[in-house]
Amino acid sequence: SVALPKLTEKRVITIANQKGGVGKTTTAVNLASALALQGLTVLVVDLDPQGNASTAMGVAHHSGVPSSYELLLGEVTAKEAIQQSPHSPRLLCIPATIDLAGAEIELVSMVAREGRLKTALSDEALDGLGIDFVMIDCPPSLGLLTVNAMVAAREVLIPIQCEYYALEGVGQLLRNIQLVQAHLNPSLHVSTVVLTMYDGRTKLADQVADEVRSHFGDAVLRSVIPRSVKVSEAPGYGMSVLDYDPGSRGAMSYLDAGRELAARSSGTVGSIAK
Ligand code: ADP
Ligand code: MG
Repeated sequence: SVALPKLTEKRVITIANQKGGVGKTTTAVNLASALALQGLTVLVVDLDPQGNASTAMGVAHHSGVPSSYELLLGEVTAKEAIQQSPHSPRLLCIPATIDLAGAEIELVSMVAREGRLKTALSDEALDGLGIDFVMIDCPPSLGLLTVNAMVAAREVLIPIQCEYYALEGVGQLLRNIQLVQAHLNPSLHVSTVVLTMYDGRTKLADQVADEVRSHFGDAVLRSVIPRSVKVSEAPGYGMSVLDYDPGSRGAMSYLDAGRELAARSSGTVGSIAK
């Protein structure tokens, strides 16, 4: 029989912020899990040599496992590198191994170095998998790996930690997004901002949240992710917080954030903020 074409295009979202420790990986993995719980099929592409998203999703990522590194080099196809999460058949992952640490330099001399991930994740490459969302977890830098992620996506999701210096570096990130938009990928835009590690007991957290909302407007999800021990414990068990402690505040907030994200279509909200 002939497979029916999917009615909706897959949404490719790059999760970027060159600051480390702001919740990129945590947000990638937990939003993916939340979307899968809604019945959507999600591919997480781990593009950080640290492999934290792979760990959190409970998939193998020791050296030698087909990974995002071989994918970028064109040595394996996406289908060869994809692993299924042990927690859901709708959660897929292309892991990162430590080999990816060399890619930033190896890519420099390659043909079409900025577009390699886009090519590897084309509709043809993922044909038949029924993928609704691709979430790309970026390393904490603005190098060629992050550029590849920005060329492969239409949407950028920026996690912002509700802490001092939250917006530090965001201006530089936006300038990089604008450069990629101008030269490599005209459809790229900041579709989503997620406030993470919110501590309701501090005045500062509210001030940061207000400031981020006045900068980014509707792109900021209404659901705010609280600082929660459960969220930080879950990856140690190779789980999302939704699997680890479904009733926790952290799980609820990511579930809400996932609903909001799915309810928006990729083109409607967001543009480069002022
Ligand atoms: P990034 O990928 O941006 O470097 P991570 O997602 O790895 O950031 O988060 C950095 C650290 O903060 C990790 O140890 C993670 O477990 C922890 N963390 C992230 N979000 C929360 C949260 N909402 N509550 C508590 N700890 C969190
Ligand atoms: Mg990370």
